[in-house]
Amino acid sequence: MQDARASDPEAPPQRAVMTATASPSDTKGAAAPRISFVSLGCPKALVDSERILTHLRAEGYELSRRHDGADVVIVNTCGFLDSAKAESLQAIGEAMAENGRVIVTGCMGAQPDEIREKYPNLLAVTGPQAYESVVAAVHEAVPPAHDPFLDLIPPQGVKLTPRHYAYLKISEGCNNRCTFCIIPSLRGDLVSRPAGDVLREAEKLVKAGVKELLVVSQDTSAYGIDTRYATSPWRDREVRARFYDLASELGELGAWVRLHYVYPYPHVDEVIPLMAEGKILPYLDMPLQHASPSVLKRMRRPGNQEKQLERIRRWREICPELAIRSTFIVGFPGETEAEFEELLEWMREAKLERVGCFEYEPVKGAPANDLGLLVPPEVKAERKRRFMEAQSHVSLRLQRAKVGKRLQVIIDEAGPSGARGRSKADAPEIDGSVHVASRRPVRPGDIVTVKIERADAYDLHGIAV
Ligand code: SF4
Repeated sequence: MQDARASDPEAPPQRAVMTATASPSDTKGAAAPRISFVSLGCPKALVDSERILTHLRAEGYELSRRHDGADVVIVNTCGFLDSAKAESLQAIGEAMAENGRVIVTGCMGAQPDEIREKYPNLLAVTGPQAYESVVAAVHEAVPPAHDPFLDLIPPQGVKLTPRHYAYLKISEGCNNRCTFCIIPSLRGDLVSRPAGDVLREAEKLVKAGVKELLVVSQDTSAYGIDTRYATSPWRDREVRARFYDLASELGELGAWVRLHYVYPYPHVDEVIPLMAEGKILPYLDMPLQHASPSVLKRMRRPGNQEKQLERIRRWREICPELAIRSTFIVGFPGETEAEFEELLEWMREAKLERVGCFEYEPVKGAPANDLGLLVPPEVKAERKRRFMEAQSHVSLRLQRAKVGKRLQVIIDEAGPSGARGRSKADAPEIDGSVHVASRRPVRPGDIVTVKIERADAYDLHGIAV
């Protein structure tokens, strides 16, 4: 985005007009809905714009530089001065003339009658900081095109992200060529954002009330390889676009920092001490996909997959709190019973805290489809069942070991009869929950200490202390 903001967050509204230019993707082929965005007003309104765009980008929407050709236009208005209102109405008028499918939000949205009087055919008018309403209006106008092989959030992630956590995307594309995946052919090679840009976005999110930053990309540990770890300015210094440096700087912002899509490159070892020191969350989302060396070779998976158990053991020595989440594919073409048994044995030894399992699906265009005999559907289903059964024993033991402990929990939902949150070992949407009984009122985004009283394979139950 154009950096047209005042340094003083309390500064009066600016006449800065920002038409969204936030790295429109070069993606051809993916039929993602396109949004054109105009942001008017002060730095706080700009943060709101960025939060809306963050939501929409995380859901796969593309940004358009022009109104015509976009599926919908969002105008974030300013209503502080009459001149600002006039400018806002003019921007809405331009969007109506050039596109006609327009959602209005921001300060002027608090006076919908004034806007509707002039433009009765708007799709929606929402008030300032009503991120969820804007996103809901966009969903209504043009639903997100969910593709489980492209999106960085799971299918249930299309529901709105609460205000207290945010996805922070650090790069686009991927340099790997995993044989079951077509992302590189759709999205191209890795393009990392400058570290300073990522940190400024993260800082703004934290200032806007975000308590947990979820670092996402296609390959987070490869961050900066494409730019040869180029430095960029951040505060009074230069910061390298490097996995460790970024994690370390993010850890200074005062929010929980959770790393997703980390592949087991050797330099991942460097961030484990940051977790042990409490700078970033002791959590690694590391999609390993398999444990049999011959299957991994056919998958052409990145990272050092050898001696993985030994590395995990060392990481846990350095950071005993570490929770590892991973996903695995069963029934990859040519997977033999012996290779699958190898995976099961590995799982029993690795004792990963959080695990997901998918049956292989032949994505059109993926080289893996030609790699060996396709595993029959009933064999895939059977292997998935055995996999999940083996993991459920591991999960239950690990969960029960938490009973009696005091854990920090970030609250996601609160009601009169209790609250639901997550410990440091639980990412939103994909991991378990902590059900919290509390005598005092708690709100979403609060971080409370909870004494764990009961556990099942996925969730914990406890009382706020
Ligand atoms: S690391 Fe592999 S699975 Fe992940 S996006 Fe890159 S090619 Fe696809």
